[in-house]
Formats: sequence, structure tokens, C-alpha cells
Amino acid sequence: MEICTVGGFDEVGKNMTAVKIGEDVFIFDCGFFLPGIIELQETEKIGYSLPGLRRVGGVPDERILDSLGWRTKVKAIFLSHAHLDHIGGLTFLIGRYPNAEVFGTPFTIEVLKSLIEDSKIRVTNKLRIVNQDSMHILKSSEGKIEVEFIRTTHSTIDCSFLALHTKEGTFFYALDLKFDNQPTLGSPPNYKRLKEIGEKKVRALVIDALYSYSEKRPGGEKVAEHLLEDAFSKVNRGDRALFVTTFSSHIERLNNIVKIGRRTNREIIFLGRSLAKYVSCAIKVGKCPFKEKIKIMKYRNQVESILRRVEAKRGKYLIVCTGHQGEENSILDRIAKSETPFKFKESDNVIFSSSVIPTEVNIEARRKLDVKLRKMGVKLQVDVHVHGHGSREDMRELIKILKPEHIIPAHGSQEQEKPLIELSEEFGYIPGKTAHLMKNGEVLKI
Ligand SMILES: [Zn+2]
Repeated sequence: MEICTVGGFDEVGKNMTAVKIGEDVFIFDCGFFLPGIIELQETEKIGYSLPGLRRVGGVPDERILDSLGWRTKVKAIFLSHAHLDHIGGLTFLIGRYPNAEVFGTPFTIEVLKSLIEDSKIRVTNKLRIVNQDSMHILKSSEGKIEVEFIRTTHSTIDCSFLALHTKEGTFFYALDLKFDNQPTLGSPPNYKRLKEIGEKKVRALVIDALYSYSEKRPGGEKVAEHLLEDAFSKVNRGDRALFVTTFSSHIERLNNIVKIGRRTNREIIFLGRSLAKYVSCAIKVGKCPFKEKIKIMKYRNQVESILRRVEAKRGKYLIVCTGHQGEENSILDRIAKSETPFKFKESDNVIFSSSVIPTEVNIEARRKLDVKLRKMGVKLQVDVHVHGHGSREDMRELIKILKPEHIIPAHGSQEQEKPLIELSEEFGYIPGKTAHLMKNGEVLKI
């Protein structure tokens, strides 16, 4: 088994790992790296070319697979979940792997399809929709290889850990990792199956080490639900506008916003292209429990018309909108710049059910937005949020269950990954021998 750490091992973003078994290569995720990419669709100008993306390091540099002689051997691409740092790069790179089948859960594939549609790239690869907790047999030079999608929790729906079962043992891909035992939508992680896999031979584990420095548990989505309830209890009532913003792909959070928001007896309207995109993907795959309770507006004229109505009757609506990172052209950005018929007034409310993604661009964009909104007298409630990555204890738990022979931390800079190597020493792993701090573009042969 050879493992190539293609992307996401030196940064948060553009996650991609390739595994060679005999004469076949399998790819795990293929993400984007661009700050604030989650809401990129808001800009309405997706004109990226592959050379341009490569220049800015926006996609994993998988040309390493050419130099290894692996690229033409890629049989399949497995996607863990629908976040853009896991699937966003594929739209632009998939043409380099014409013979590879792409496997993902229903929501993941639906989001991928909509990205492909946006990019106007013609894709001929077979897209295989598979369910959580399912196993699939792949033809290979080594005889039978099986890929398994194991249900887990994170901050979007339909997330899976991926296990590649080979003759020499299992390769296990645990990105992104957050154990939520009391999710408010969907089921807890499939611990039973994880334990069964741990009883057999797990040769290598690639693990989300983003918060491996921290023992502080982020709290499950139930905590976010309580935070939201608390925030709603503190809004200025009466004829005051009420806006909430969150990550567009966080369907579980959106469900909680709708659930709690309904108690205000306001009409709930979703505004913005990226919200419309992810919610319609969830609706298409039958995983949007709140679809009957909201209206979605994505086109400019629809948005303007709703905002005109909110301006006239600000106490009548609950607006869920884009702009939690202060993104250019998001709904909140446009309102703050007085580009819409709606103007915030003293004592209107905005709840940020999000945290600021800690990149310079995002921090500065949000700072500017907050200053503008506060100047208008808006009551801001920020960080009404729990994030989607587990703490050190979640990593400890997964290592204990799977007992892998080799560990490779991922999903962060070297600094962010190092504490996971130290953690592995608790279990007797030896840095450089069985615990491997790897950079982008390296190969580990086991
Ligand atoms: Zn994620």
C-alpha cells in the first residue's frame, strides 16, 4: 500500500489523498482552497481556469500523480462529504481522470452536480450515488477490493468515513471528524461498524487533526440549538427586522433556525444564491425537513422584491440569508452597502450562526461588515455557533476504536497536525515510524 498525501496536509483546504494498491490508484476527496469559497457562488462569476487555479494554489497539485506514474491508474474517486474543501477541486480536475468513477452519498453527488453545472465543464465520468453504511466491490488488479461508506456526523448532511478494504488490510480515511452523539438531524456515527473494522487489520488511518491541540470539546448541534434559542430570546421584538445568517451547506443548522424561528410567527424566507443551491440539493435528495416551511429566493429581482416588503413590514419576516463571512455581493454585504431597497434601522437584529473563518480575507471582511451594521444601530449577536471539527478527545476515541498500524494527520498546517503526532505517542506510536507528519506531495510506502 502506497499513500500519497496530495493536498490538505500543509493547509486547511484542498483535501486530497491518493492510495495505490497493486496497479490501481484510488483518490479520496479533491477540494478547493480559497478563503471564503463556501459562498463563492454569490459573486456570480465563476470563470476559473485550471492554470489560474494552479497559479494561486486553489486546487491540490495532483501533478505529483503524473510524476509517480499513478494518474492513468486512477480507478475511482471517493468523496467523504459535500464541503467545497473536499469536492470543489474535482470540477476542474476530473477531466484528468476520464476513466475514474466518482462515488459519493446522495447530497454530496447532488452538490457536485450543481458545481459541475455552474462551471459549464462537460463531465463524462460515471457518478455513483451510494448510501451511508454501504459497501461496494471494485474490480482491481489485486482481485477484489471493497470501498465502504460509514455514517458519521459533521456540519453538513450525508457525511461518511471511507474505508478501502484490501487484501493487505484497510486504508481508513476519517475526514472530517466530529463525533456528535445527539445530532438534531440524522443519526449518530456508526460506532458499531467502526468497532468491527477496528477488530480487523487497519493498516493506515488518515485523520482530521485540525483541532488536535485542543481538549476543549466544541459541543454537538444540540448545543448550537440552545445557543440559537438563547439568541432568539434576546432579539429586539415588535416591528424590528430579524435576519439570521449561517453556512449554506449546514442543513442541520438551517433546520434548527427554522424550527426555532417558527416560534416568532414570522414568515421565513431564505435569500441568496448559495443558500438556494444547497437547500435545493437537500430537497432533491429528500433530506430537507423544513422545505414546506420556508420560501427560497435566489434571483436578484425576487430578492429585491422581498426586501422591499421587509422594508415596509419589518416585523413580519424572518430572513435567513448569506453574508456570514462578509462576502462581497452576499445579501448582508449588499444591504450594508445600501444596494437594496431594504435599509437596516436602529434596533433591527442580525444573528450570526457562524464563526469567522480565520483567514485574513474573512476576518477583515467580517470586521468591516460588523462596523457598518453597528453604525446603523443593528443589534448583532455573533458566534451563535459550534464548529464541525472534533477535539483531541474525538481523535483519541477514533484511534482507540480503529487501532491502525500507521497514522497520518491531515486537514491543517504542519503546526496544526503536530499535536496529533504527540497524541499518538500516548498509544505507543513512534514518530517517523508509525506516526507520520507528512507534507503535500509526499508518498508513504507501507
Ligand atoms: Zn467538512
